[in-house]
Amino acid sequence: MTTDLIARSGATGALISRLEWGKTPLGPLSGWPPRVRALLETALPSGIPLCVLLGADPARAQVVYNDAFSALLGHKHPAAMGRPAREVWPESWDFFEWALRQVWHAGQPVTGKDLMLHLDRGNDIEEVYVSISFSPIRDDQGSVYGALMCGIETTGAVLAARRERALRLLTEALRPAKTEDDFYRILPKALSYTLRDVFFAFLYELDPAGTRATLRASAGLAAEVPEALREIALAPGCPWEMACVARENEMRLVSTSGLGLCVMNALAGTPKRAAVIPVAGGSPSGRAAMLVVGLRSARALDDDYGAFVLRVARELSVALADIQSRRAAELHAAAVAESRLKDMFLGIASHELRTPLTCMKLNVQLVHRELLSLEPRLAERLERLSRSIDRMTRLVNEMLSVSAIAAGKLALKETYCDLRAICTSAGAEQSLVARRPLSLHLPEQPVHILADEDRTGEVIANLLANAYKYSAPEEPVELSLEESGAEAIVTVRDRGPGIPRESLPHVFDRFYRVPGVSVRAGSYLGLGLGLYLSKAIVEQHHGRIWVESEVGRGSAFSFSMPLAA
Ligand code: ADP
Repeated sequence: MTTDLIARSGATGALISRLEWGKTPLGPLSGWPPRVRALLETALPSGIPLCVLLGADPARAQVVYNDAFSALLGHKHPAAMGRPAREVWPESWDFFEWALRQVWHAGQPVTGKDLMLHLDRGNDIEEVYVSISFSPIRDDQGSVYGALMCGIETTGAVLAARRERALRLLTEALRPAKTEDDFYRILPKALSYTLRDVFFAFLYELDPAGTRATLRASAGLAAEVPEALREIALAPGCPWEMACVARENEMRLVSTSGLGLCVMNALAGTPKRAAVIPVAGGSPSGRAAMLVVGLRSARALDDDYGAFVLRVARELSVALADIQSRRAAELHAAAVAESRLKDMFLGIASHELRTPLTCMKLNVQLVHRELLSLEPRLAERLERLSRSIDRMTRLVNEMLSVSAIAAGKLALKETYCDLRAICTSAGAEQSLVARRPLSLHLPEQPVHILADEDRTGEVIANLLANAYKYSAPEEPVELSLEESGAEAIVTVRDRGPGIPRESLPHVFDRFYRVPGVSVRAGSYLGLGLGLYLSKAIVEQHHGRIWVESEVGRGSAFSFSMPLAA
């Protein structure tokens, strides 16, 4: 009857009833003490993992367990059934021997919460946490005949709590870092909090081009990081398969064999695999990094473990991004402050320069008039002086206008006016100043626009002055005006040096001048403000300005303005 009950208690019950116990020190099942058999009848169907260790000598106690317990045995089940405990758990026999001796010799129960055991369950040696209890089983004479072991695995909960703590400590350690240098200085300590879960952790910084990785921090090694791992050129076949990880931007598991890594915590084995994980930088200018962690071979990379190493990478990424964006914001604020200062200086300096310039110009004109009849040679010199004053006045006016734009105070006096007439007068004036001909192509009828006449003339004058300034004296300059749909388009064309393709997007920027450009026609180099100013004026009139240019063939600057309704 008893044997029947045991045989019907799950897969392990059937196994127990099949085993030839007569060949073991316990003898046939039917001869086991009735109290032991009664205990088995209760323990085998239980959903709690239970194992009975039986025998007069704890060193040779044989294990009998229920279905729920077999998970704790892994690949050792079913061979473990009926085997001596020391053969079932040689990897943790020290602990079992101590516990069983307590039960057998002192007749005392032994209990422990979340005990760490190194167990081999088929995935190499694993770090397993169990809440375990052993209580004595006595035979009918009252002598200890075995121990009832209840073992509940708590690995998941223990590791989850430990990893949470490690991540919290890592984040807290990195919090004070204000600069990237701080970050990398603090990092070895911060990474050390993860060392119960990973063998080692390295963080590499990538260069801006993403072609080299430089080791900036490491934790977990008992010796120096091998030379070959300190500076890595990202190319096929490089260490950690880093070139692939950078290209695919995804975590990769790589082998660590042959890298000569000597880890501090070698108790739980040696690293066999590492996870290489990209760590994104914060701002577009911020450098990216790469995290390499040595996986504990004692533990399979299950979902929780994978999620943990990815979270380590994410925490680093967030901390780095924070530092980089803070730095970018500081740089931006400094640039804004500097630019404001420059605008202020421009405004004040140009304003202060204009008054003495006007005074000089008036006096030169007076003296010139008087000298014309007395000393014609000196009068000519004065004329040159007067032209220099005109140029300076133009520069000062440009500077004043630019500072007005920066302050958002470029006021337009808009009236209905004729763009054809503005072209004619600006063309005549610039041609006279440059002492060079101008080829004019204008429509026969007036072209009406609603605009600030002076400012519009200023744009045309700027474009013409540049065309004369940058082309050789014998080259033609052309000014044309045409109507196209609802717009009027003005174009100034020259056969000067042209503008290199890479400079084209910048010619309308403030203070931009094409590198290496030289003035052809005895004029002066400017401040790089004329086109910026022209663009601001045109756009304030709801128009567009653009340039087409080819090196060696010349340039065509055009702008459009809406025709008056
Ligand atoms: P600048 O006062 O230096 O002439 P601009 O804003 O008028 O400043 O022009 C910006 C730059 O664009 C110039 O320094 C010059 O390098 C280039 N540029 C402007 N117009 C021409 C042109 N017609 N041909 C060649 N380069 C030109």
